This record gives sequence, C-alpha cells and structure tokens, in this order.
Amino acid sequence: MSETETQKKPAILLLGAPGAGKGTQGAILGNIPRFYHYASGDVFRSLDTRTELGRKFVEYSKRGELVPDHFTIELWAVQMENLIATHVYKPDIDILVLDGIPRNVEQCKMLEEHVTIHQVFHLSCPDRSELERRMRKRALKEHRLDDASETVIQNRIQTYEAATKPILDFYPDELCCDIDASQSPAKVLYDILARLQTLGVYQEISAMVV
Ligand code: ADP
Repeated sequence: MSETETQKKPAILLLGAPGAGKGTQGAILGNIPRFYHYASGDVFRSLDTRTELGRKFVEYSKRGELVPDHFTIELWAVQMENLIATHVYKPDIDILVLDGIPRNVEQCKMLEEHVTIHQVFHLSCPDRSELERRMRKRALKEHRLDDASETVIQNRIQTYEAATKPILDFYPDELCCDIDASQSPAKVLYDILARLQTLGVYQEISAMVV
C-alpha cells in the first residue's frame, strides 16, 4: 500500500510509559466526533489466542516485551482497512489517535508512508513509583497479566525507556509537546485539548460540515 501525501491519514500520537494514561486519554478523545482512537494493546488483547498472532502477543507481552514490528504493523494495516471498509473510521475527516503504536523508531519509519503525525503528546511521568502503582491497580481491575508481576512491570518500563522514548528524537521538536501525566485525568485532558485547538489539522477538520 502506498499513499500520496494527501492520502496519508492525519494522526496524533499519545506517547508515554505504561501507566502514564494513554488509554484513558485516548478513549476520551476517541469519543469526540472526528477522532478515532486506535489502541494497539487493546487490539492485541482482542485477538483469538488460538491464532499464531494471538499466541505471539501472549508470548511477548507476558515478558513485558514488544511484539515484533512486522506483526504489529501488519495487524494495524489490516485493522485500518477493515475500519475504513466498514466506515467506522473515515480517514478523510477523522483524526487518528494513535495509542501504543508506533512504539519504537522502526515502527515510526514503517508508518511514515501511511500517516502524518501532527502532534506527539508525551505523557510525561518521571515518578516511576506512580506508574508502578497505577499498573498494579490496573492488574487487579482489568485482569492485565502483564501488569501483575513486579519483574514484568520493571521490564515494561525498561522497554519503554530503551525502545519507545527515543521516538521523541525521531520527530521534530516542534511536533512534540510534554504533558504532565502525574496530574488528574481531567487536567491532563484539559492540557491535551488546549494544545489540540492550536493545530491546523484540527481547525480544518473541525470546520468541515459533514
Ligand atoms: P500500556 O497501555 O500499558 O502501555 P499496551 O496495552 O499498549 O500497554 O500494550 C500491552 C502490550 O502489547 C505491550 O507490552 C506489548 O507487548 C504489546 N504491544 C502493544 N502495542 C505494541 C506495539 N506497537 N509494538 C509491539 N508490541 C506492542
């Protein structure tokens, strides 16, 4: 699949360590008309574990590691095609809210021909103990296996530092904005929305009468 610049999907990226609140914010944004929330972790978790991909996901995520890039990007591309074919996601009028993908620089490169990232929201939470606290809470409430063990939690944070955080250097500085993720969810949302209003792509899309 190769798209011209105008066919590339407009997107914003939520970037942050596990527990930073990407899923919480992404779900809220995805409920706003003209936004579509794609959470790669949720898509992986919805896979039938009898399939090869479903098994791969369990194998890697239970160790706190990333699923190999080609599986991840292929799954994303297939999901996008399905969502477009069923008109659930409308690439010409919806802003894609990417949550959990791209998750390393290689994935950024692989997605470059398909999406235009208009803003990277870095949900920053330097207090690792707060992230760990949120993950432990989530393990209980959402039955997340990958949040249940201390070793896996540490692995996931390390994977974030080593593989995902360098994404911030891949995109130009002016595309990246730091959001203090230790604040209340409502205040984090407020800060994201304030920045969103200033984006040309948001102004264009929200002005469209459909
Ligand atoms: P969190 O929201 O806590 O950061 P996710 O729910 O996004 O975690 O992801 C859970 C797991 O799914 C990851 O630890 C990883 O194994 C796998 N995963 C999700 N997205 C990707 C991706 N883009 N590339 C590789 N693996 C991924």
